[in-house]
Amino acid sequence: LFSRPVTFLRGAVKLDDLPPTDLPEVAFAGRSNVGKSSLINALARQKQLARASGEPGRTRELNFFDLDGKIRLVDLPGYGFAKAPKKEAERWTRLTQNFLKGRPNLKRVYLLIDSRHGFKANDDAVMKEFDVAAVSYQIVLTKTDKLKPAEIEKCLAGVAAKISRRPAAFPDIIATSSAKGDGIAELRGAIAVLTPE
Ligand code: GDP
Repeated sequence: LFSRPVTFLRGAVKLDDLPPTDLPEVAFAGRSNVGKSSLINALARQKQLARASGEPGRTRELNFFDLDGKIRLVDLPGYGFAKAPKKEAERWTRLTQNFLKGRPNLKRVYLLIDSRHGFKANDDAVMKEFDVAAVSYQIVLTKTDKLKPAEIEKCLAGVAAKISRRPAAFPDIIATSSAKGDGIAELRGAIAVLTPE
């Protein structure tokens, strides 16, 4: 699937801007600076597709990428940026919640967790939203190149224990490093399974 070209389709700041629901979609969520843009760029084998900005909290829209008319990748706005005004955090919640609730073609959300930090309170809040909205989600650990193998194992075990009680969480966790390429093929494979062909 990922040998096909990925192109930017559009950004949405309100529900009216969303593309039609004619294609399956997978979305990517995570705290600001978790490595979401880098991961999307690694998946697509493009350096500048999702803007990997040095400025956390800059991406304030839902960005849609078209994978050759087969599936769309949706970059959800990063959350938890300390300097983001409260109003903005509320807007994230509202737009994202509405997207999650009203998207029949949304196959899965990949929730990115920095392997050095594990779950934070706002990750827990987001998982609760996914559970309530009955949105299937899967945890992707990022930046594993920063850890030793034993530390990655420890992180995986901790995350597995936490999601075992979460109803909508997919049990398998994918450990990735966009910098080194670890886990990227595995994630591509997981996404490919979600498309009809
Ligand atoms: P976003 O805010 O979630 O889109 O995060 P970015 O993709 O912009 O990355 C945030 C920071 O983490 C940048 O400084 C990246 O260079 C760094 N980063 C992202 N992925 C990796 C990774 O796999 N390994 C390492 N070591 N750093 C990463």
